[in-house]
Amino acid sequence: MSSIVLFGPPGAGKGTQAERIMTSTGLPQVSTGDMLRAAVKDQTPTGIEAKEYMEAGKLVPDSIIIELIKQRIKLPDAVNGVMFDGFPRTVPQAEALSEITDVSHVIAIEVPDERIVDRICGRYSCASCGLVFHETFNPVPKSGCSCGNFVEKRRADDNKDTVLSRLSAYHEQTSPLAEWYENLGIFHRINGDREIDLISHDILLALEN
Ligand code: ADP
Ligand code: ADP
Repeated sequence: MSSIVLFGPPGAGKGTQAERIMTSTGLPQVSTGDMLRAAVKDQTPTGIEAKEYMEAGKLVPDSIIIELIKQRIKLPDAVNGVMFDGFPRTVPQAEALSEITDVSHVIAIEVPDERIVDRICGRYSCASCGLVFHETFNPVPKSGCSCGNFVEKRRADDNKDTVLSRLSAYHEQTSPLAEWYENLGIFHRINGDREIDLISHDILLALEN
């Protein structure tokens, strides 16, 4: 079993790309952000604890995240590996991951900071199917969402104030992981400041190596 990590700042396009390359890789997407939002919605003990960190744009404590991943990886669909989106985000999380599963590729989607605010503040999704869109860069088609039941949903933390905290958490706590994975020879840099389809194409090429 071998997994893939999609790595990059908030708004880099990790979720968008995971959705597009899921069929080609055959691996399920595991997004710690999505898992935490579900826990917050269901008011589970994890959700109750995580909520204040998420609202402040801070990272949720490692112990909570590592436990979530340990449980998720036990599910039958993870038997051949998964595509991690937004995990790991700290060195302790990466250390824990190395004991849980093999990682064959880390795909770093690189987008300059000055693009991130626009990306995050224009993001919305379809509440029915979860597809992610953008007001300007990737709007829902005039014919509607492909699921046929478009309902617009915005994330509570997708605002200008929170995005700056999330970006600094990324630079301080997450970006040091690049060196960790570069030393393992599995780190692939992809220019994420281009059209969505071009990025998907380059990710699939990187995964072939
Ligand atoms: P992440 O999962 O890394 O936080 P998303 O996939 O949710 O990022 O993308 C953030 C926002 O940017 C979404 O509104 C998405 O539609 C948009 N987006 C994704 N990729 C691109 C791209 N290559 N160019 C412009 N906008 C993009
Ligand atoms: P984005 O890609 O836009 O930053 P996510 O959906 O990945 O958003 O994460 C939303 C929030 O959930 C983060 O700001 C953080 O509070 C929390 N979170 C998600 N994944 C992790 C993680 N691996 N470690 C710590 N906190 C996390």
